[in-house]
Amino acid sequence: KTTPKGKPKWLRVKLPTGKKYTELRSLVDKYDLHTICTSGSCPNMGECWSEGTATFMILGNICTRSCGFCGVKTGRPETVDWDEPEKVARSIKLMQIKHAVVTSVDRDDLKDMGSIIWAETVKAIRRMNPETTLETLIPDFQGNTRNIDRIIEVAPEVVSHNMETVRRLTREVRIQAKYDRSLEVLRYLKDQGINRTKSGIMLGLGETEEEVIQTLHDLKDANVDVVTIGQYLQPSKRHLPVKQFITPDQFKKYEAIGLDLGFRHVESSALVRSSYKAQKHIN
Ligand code: SF4
Ligand code: SF4
Repeated sequence: KTTPKGKPKWLRVKLPTGKKYTELRSLVDKYDLHTICTSGSCPNMGECWSEGTATFMILGNICTRSCGFCGVKTGRPETVDWDEPEKVARSIKLMQIKHAVVTSVDRDDLKDMGSIIWAETVKAIRRMNPETTLETLIPDFQGNTRNIDRIIEVAPEVVSHNMETVRRLTREVRIQAKYDRSLEVLRYLKDQGINRTKSGIMLGLGETEEEVIQTLHDLKDANVDVVTIGQYLQPSKRHLPVKQFITPDQFKKYEAIGLDLGFRHVESSALVRSSYKAQKHIN
């Protein structure tokens, strides 16, 4: 059954409520804290925030890349804010976040591609929030291992890098990225001793079931521990259109296939975003 606008009923969300959520919401407004949860109006805010999880974006809000699915602005980014690591760490403290997810825009304009700020952010968070566990959702750093090593050295509990889509659609969906390079990044992270590696894909961009299953196999071959699978939703008319709404049963099928393949966790349903239920992925 679908809504009048054509969106299936399983994509309708309840407005977030709850004491913890209301508290966090007022802190975020009062101190002008930046989370992806609010800027992306994520449907899971109520759930994540009441569990003490939130996602922060670093290195500004203008990206050097122009992925066809992504709502972040493309252009020439601002200069690096060297106080950003402290600001993020302070936000996490104020919000009493138990498990923080940190992500960034891609900074292909910088020599270190932002990896130094990345490492400084992790260090500042650890210093100010020794109990908080961390997931870093990183760019591909163009596959440059010197930059990736800066993340590995500070050892976040989980390091994720999203494939976003199947091999055939990568060029269209993530214009400046490469399917195999992303797999290499994931493989490298695990080889270098990262405890939990994680990747996510969005469905509904025109991929076939066979292609999704192949991607799961490829991720398994790259020794990835955790996979997230969710429904793509178009951020605006200028973005790639939604080709299909994947049914709840189909999501369940992928979850079963993933678990059969031996992934440690598979989150697969329409509203899953890469940082959804992130806290449980450290185990
Ligand atoms: Fe925030 Fe991610 Fe949860 Fe959405 S899924 S509310 S972005 S932590
Ligand atoms: Fe969006 Fe990341 Fe692509 Fe930049 S690299 S456009 S932030 S998905």
